Amino acid sequence: MTLYDDIAYLKGVGPARAKVLASEAGIHTYADMLDYLPFRYVDRSVISTIASVKEDDNFVVVRGRLSNMQTVATGPHRERLTVDLFDGTGYFQLVWFAGTKWVRERLKPNVEYLVMGKPAVYNNIWQMTHPDIEPFSSVDDGARHPLMPVYHTTDKMKQHGLGTRALARISESLIQALQHSDPQLIPENLPDDILRHFHLLPRREAMLAIHYPDSRQQLDQARLRLKFEELFFLQLDYQYAHQQRSSHSQGRVFAHVGDHFNNFYRQIPFPLTGAQKRVIREIREDMRTGRQMNRLVQGDVGSGKTLVALMCMLLAVDNGSQACLMAPTEILATQHYLTFQRMLDGLGVNVQLLTGSLRPAAKKKLKQQLADGEIDLLIGTHALIEDNVAFRDLGLVVIDEQHRFGVEQRSKLWQKSAVPPHILVMTATPIPRTLAMTLYGDLDCSVIDELPPGRHPVRTYHRLERNRPLVFSFLKQQIDAGRQVYIVYPLIEESEKMDLKNLQDGLEMVQSYFPRPQYQTSMVHGRLTAEEKAFEMDRFKRGLTHIMVATTVIEVGVDVPNASVMVIENAERFGLSQLHQLRGRVGRGADQAYCILMTKDDLSYTSQERIRTMCSTTDGFQIAEADLRLRGPGDIQGLQQSGALDLRLASIVDDEPLVSATRNAVRDLLAADPALAAHPLLMQHIQNSKNKILWGKIS
Ligand code: ADP
Ligand code: MG
Repeated sequence: MTLYDDIAYLKGVGPARAKVLASEAGIHTYADMLDYLPFRYVDRSVISTIASVKEDDNFVVVRGRLSNMQTVATGPHRERLTVDLFDGTGYFQLVWFAGTKWVRERLKPNVEYLVMGKPAVYNNIWQMTHPDIEPFSSVDDGARHPLMPVYHTTDKMKQHGLGTRALARISESLIQALQHSDPQLIPENLPDDILRHFHLLPRREAMLAIHYPDSRQQLDQARLRLKFEELFFLQLDYQYAHQQRSSHSQGRVFAHVGDHFNNFYRQIPFPLTGAQKRVIREIREDMRTGRQMNRLVQGDVGSGKTLVALMCMLLAVDNGSQACLMAPTEILATQHYLTFQRMLDGLGVNVQLLTGSLRPAAKKKLKQQLADGEIDLLIGTHALIEDNVAFRDLGLVVIDEQHRFGVEQRSKLWQKSAVPPHILVMTATPIPRTLAMTLYGDLDCSVIDELPPGRHPVRTYHRLERNRPLVFSFLKQQIDAGRQVYIVYPLIEESEKMDLKNLQDGLEMVQSYFPRPQYQTSMVHGRLTAEEKAFEMDRFKRGLTHIMVATTVIEVGVDVPNASVMVIENAERFGLSQLHQLRGRVGRGADQAYCILMTKDDLSYTSQERIRTMCSTTDGFQIAEADLRLRGPGDIQGLQQSGALDLRLASIVDDEPLVSATRNAVRDLLAADPALAAHPLLMQHIQNSKNKILWGKIS
């Protein structure tokens, strides 16, 4: 026997079912079946009474006798078979639409059956459709294997006699065959010392037990071992890649701290926070080692990332290089440019702005100056990475709000100079710790986890439509005290028209409460041109308007310190990280700021939780953790299986301790044996999975 034998040869399968297994579940060989993991287990030692079954039970095991079998024709060659199951406490109607002949011939009255399936109530009748059913007397292994594995099946599989119970039987005969064959069929793939250190089951034992555990405890051990393995190899891939890149890819050496940096530092009007200093130190450390930096800086909105970026860019200039900063939108790029110009005034640094709306002649001139090295710092949007933008010597690239830039775009930057530039990615969208560790195992990570002093956390409130008069009178109070407010509407992706309608209705309502000329209102949305947007933003920024009614185009980076209230309409339609981003638009000055989440009355559970989270914390990391937890299992699974994170058992939400453990284990192992000379099996794994890593070179 080998694991690559055709599944048809396995006891209880045969050619007809083998065909269905292959087409429906991708199971061609023994190995495929072994890889087809149960998603649940039914404890057959727990048999429910029918009376105790609840409608929302997912899967129940009951035991009883059959009576009253009936067939009703539902079409030509189609019939519906029903039979009652009675266990002394209540009735279930068992229903079949397909394979009725097979069922009718086998089921007998007055025999005790074990029946498993998902209960449902239909027309006030308790039913189970296409249940798994077998004579109770044949359940002989129940005592030895109380936990029966449940595998995914499709309707077609069920119609071919491949229901839950049948699959469990097939896997059982595979497990039995494997138990009696060469142990090397399922070889170990983790190093001995790691198995010992973490008390892990051998791979073979775990693989057998995950299908047919002897006990709950053995199942837990098997799952732990296999989760560990998944996370271990993920970490190994990332950390090995990271190590290779660090030791092979040459980077510029920015060893010198010069006048630009020092003069700037001296004239900053406030002390840097401890976190800012620490992160700048980490970056300086990276940039002088001679290896290319790939660093992610996470910091909550308002934590002062821009300043950190600017200082690092000045270091590049001090070392004779150019630096650039890319922002996701023109508004933001322009804002950064103005900030930089103001902050660098009189320091002799040449800062320029390149955006898509620059006129051709000006653009041409700018490009020439860039190629000649006259420009020190260039700020821009995507336009910056167009192929025909050439730098004399690009030494550092800062990418603001990383999630808007794809890997592909970043890799273009990589090609912009012979010795690759250092790369700094800034993000205010906090990534939960576990996710960062798994996703960015090969990226260095810095965290600015401290806000500048004197900031009050934004106060957040949840209000309903009927509270609107109070909300608006509060806004009035704030505006009369000289402050400004945002009112944000969700983008309705399916329909730009509805979007605008929503926004215009909103604007009308706002203007009826806040009549002109006493109150001035701006409106910004995605359909305005960059110039129109900039014009409106500028009016608001200069205090000429009091209220900014907008869609989420203002989400990232807009900086108006005088704005003190953020009202988010239909807040239930926003995700947590978006709400957090929006809230970050206020509270940038020294005064108390407010965020008001307006929602409809009846909210779904997850919406309620999102709103509750927002009202109870301003800590971006806590919000990111909650976000991950609140996303449906499907969402997380999608993320986990999205190529980058191929996890089938481990969960980035629930298995954080395991993520840390494997991360440290791999780190220690690579420290002791960087070339994996003593671990040929691990080396082989890396060779095999090389093409799986998508972002090998660049963040
Ligand atoms: P981020 O990009 O992280 O959201 P910014 O860099 O835009 O934050 O900084 C927000 C505001 O805080 C800016 O007005 C900036 O000048 C100011 N700021 C930055 N660092 C400090 C500090 N250490 N002390 C006081 N204010 C600071
Ligand atoms: Mg910023």
